[in-house]
Amino acid sequence: MNKIIVIGGGFSGLTIANKLAKKARKYKLDITLIEPKDHNFYEPDLIFYAFNNKKLSKLYKPMHKLVRKRVNHIGMRAKKVETEKKKVILEDGTELDYDYLVLATGVKYIEKDFKYSEQKHIHHFYSPPATEKFRQMIKRFKGGTIVISPSTVPYKCPPAPVEFTFMLDSYLKKRKLRDKATIKFLYPLSVPFTVKEAAVVVAEMYKKRGIEFVPYCNYEKVDIENKKFISFEGEEIEYDELVLLPIHEGQDIIKESGLGDKEGYVPTDKFTLQVKGHPNIYAIGDCTDLPTSKAGAVSHYSAPTIVKNIINQIKGKEASAKYNGKTICFLVTSYQKAMMLDFSYNHPSRKYGLIPMRIYMLFKRLFRFLYFHILIKGII
Ligand SMILES: Cc1cc2nc3c(=O)[nH]c(=O)nc-3n(C[C@H](O)[C@H](O)[C@H](O)COP(=O)(O)OP(=O)(O)OC[C@H]3O[C@@H](n4cnc5c(N)ncnc54)[C@H](O)[C@@H]3O)c2cc1C
Repeated sequence: MNKIIVIGGGFSGLTIANKLAKKARKYKLDITLIEPKDHNFYEPDLIFYAFNNKKLSKLYKPMHKLVRKRVNHIGMRAKKVETEKKKVILEDGTELDYDYLVLATGVKYIEKDFKYSEQKHIHHFYSPPATEKFRQMIKRFKGGTIVISPSTVPYKCPPAPVEFTFMLDSYLKKRKLRDKATIKFLYPLSVPFTVKEAAVVVAEMYKKRGIEFVPYCNYEKVDIENKKFISFEGEEIEYDELVLLPIHEGQDIIKESGLGDKEGYVPTDKFTLQVKGHPNIYAIGDCTDLPTSKAGAVSHYSAPTIVKNIINQIKGKEASAKYNGKTICFLVTSYQKAMMLDFSYNHPSRKYGLIPMRIYMLFKRLFRFLYFHILIKGII
């Protein structure tokens, strides 16, 4: 048998394990998925749930409904990888051997100087509890300055804070509070987004909708007492409510196993998706240092390359399949419309997708169904 271990059962790990399961019989694959959580959670809808009253529990699905039969799911954390011995050590000390390993551990959020749950006026929307706290605040909001900013780069889903800002603008308009509110969007770049072609469109829309944009603004700290965001560049920006994305880092296991860079991300060949210096280890999704977005769409488009390369290696061939960096994502611009960003390592985003349209919003809404029923199950 060819033993394959996948560490992490989020979008990336489930997709890979389930895709490999389809080849299990033909290539004699013994697939183990290590994931302590008993559920999976659909993150993209958090930008909608921040502004509605629906139950956040609707976004969860139990793991047992998502894992294919031929995948052995172990509900535990992996503690360490011993690459020399080709072993994964679990938190209870169990040792598992592998021939091929796939790292899919995502990122972790750090609360360095304060705890979000203890701060009345500092929020984020990157987890269900934080989203719940934000929506309790926004329901009671009567006016004032709301400041939105990332805290580290890279962060998950580059469009998410932009989408959140557009949703906030639309939500306040709907509640007839927009003229009582100032919205400020802070960003480390000269433009308010990472994809150049779309950033120009976003900047134009911000201007039209009266959203203030502060460029070259990197988060340094918050003066909690005086309600000021302080940038690395020395700017002080006052807020009534601050939406600050959490600090992102790679997971501890990556660093502790000597497989990470200084932020804990895995140095990964951007084409073959092999971990640099380890031909039988692959990395996928948010845990990598790939020069593209930390997005589920990247996991979806890159997963077939890993499956092909593992099969190639089992057949005694080179890991010759290459991921071209393709990703597609939908950037929400209001309750009704979205843009479609479609790019790869060598191709900028296609122009036709940059005009906000209802059809792209329909795709965005459809994505949750596709995510749980098709993509994560490795069907396509
Ligand atoms: C608000 C928001 C909106 C988003 N919108 C979009 C969007 O519209 N489109 C899009 O494509 N993407 C979007 N994303 C990004 C997308 O959700 C992530 O990129 C995707 O979920 C990453 O999947 P992953 O499996 O790599 O990481 P994760 O989903 O974080 O999964 C990692 C898993 O590894 C497990 N793990 C960690 N350490 C260990 C260990 N030691 N042992 C065992 N298991 C471990 C964790 O428990 C976790 O389940 C959004 C994200 C957010 C926060």
